[in-house]
Amino acid sequence: MDLRDLYQETILDHTKRPRNFRRIENATHHADGHNRLCGDRLTVYLRVEDGRVVDASFQGAGCAISTASASLMTEAIKGKTLDEVHALFGRFHDVVAGPDGAAAAAPDLGKLAVFAGVREFPVRVKCATLSWHTVEAALKKQDTPVSTE
Ligand code: ZN
Repeated sequence: MDLRDLYQETILDHTKRPRNFRRIENATHHADGHNRLCGDRLTVYLRVEDGRVVDASFQGAGCAISTASASLMTEAIKGKTLDEVHALFGRFHDVVAGPDGAAAAAPDLGKLAVFAGVREFPVRVKCATLSWHTVEAALKKQDTPVSTE
């Protein structure tokens, strides 16, 4: 199995069985994302405590790439500080849309590297980054934390 098959298998797996596909009832942040080019719509939920993402999830409907990307993203950012989340998005963006060579320089991206193939399909870049942009929007909004009664 070459790397490309492995990438496709990972994306397929997360499309069929998206991780963290649920609503977080006591979310501190959430935002809706919409990719008009493709029709992807999703809502991202975050629970942030002491500057760290302790829970992340999403719901919505979209194409295989946007669903798999959101699924892998929720896994990737859980446990990370907000600074680390911003940095990770920067790296991820480089992999899917940055100048040639960025992908090869990102061995520590783990499973997120499966989206390196997206760079060959510019129309798909927005699908792959939708969930990340939505997280950034959610964090910027600084929603009032939901009361824990
Ligand atoms: Zn899409």
